Formats: sequence, C-alpha cells, structure tokens
Amino acid sequence: MSEPGQEKTISEQGQEKTLAEQAPSSYECRACGYVYDPAKGDNQNKIESGTLFTDLPENWRCPVCGVPPSQFIDIGAQGAPSGFAENLNYGLGVNTLTPNQKNLLIFGGLGLGFLFFLSLYGLH
Ligand SMILES: [Zn+2]
Repeated sequence: MSEPGQEKTISEQGQEKTLAEQAPSSYECRACGYVYDPAKGDNQNKIESGTLFTDLPENWRCPVCGVPPSQFIDIGAQGAPSGFAENLNYGLGVNTLTPNQKNLLIFGGLGLGFLFFLSLYGLH
C-alpha cells in the first residue's frame, strides 16, 4: 500500500493520521463497476454507513452483480483532499473557463472584423 502524495497530518489529539486513514477507501467492483462507499454503506445488504470495506462480512456480495469482495479493487478515498480530488477540481476549473474563452474569441473576432470592415469604408 503506497499511495503517491499521501501526506501525514497531525490531528488535534496529537495522533498522526494519513489522509487515507481519515477518509476510508472506496472499492469498485471489477465485474460491474459498482462502487462501495464506506460513507454510504450498502442499503441492499443492510450494511450501515461508516462500515469499512475491509470490515464487511465474509458473505457480503456485490449488490449489483453478486461477486465476492475479492473481485473488488481499492480505488482510494473518494471526495478526500487527495491528489485525485485536486485533479477533479482542476478539470472543473477548465470546464468553467472554456465557455468564457469561447465568448472572448467570438466577440473579440467579431470586434476585429467590424473594425476591419469600418477601416475599408474609411479608405473609400
Ligand atoms: Zn458487481
């Protein structure tokens, strides 16, 4: 278990905790893509929210396709202040900027074209 960018923080109680420990990992079913989120638990199998994937009963099965926990992979903490979350924010930032940049290009282009049009009239 070696996650890149895993930072150690010191809580108010003076205990060292990794970000991964603060936010437990979610696990994704390799068979169907279902994601077990410990913060949500699994209503269908009467798993309480806050139950870690590693604490699930041995007879627990994927609520969607029924495969055993061994078919799940650790996809890391979701929504935690990890590198993954930062990448998500970065993506959203670009997405919100893109329409503005498009408007700038469109209006800027129209303005330049209009000025060029006027300058042609000015010549005659
Ligand atoms: Zn599944």
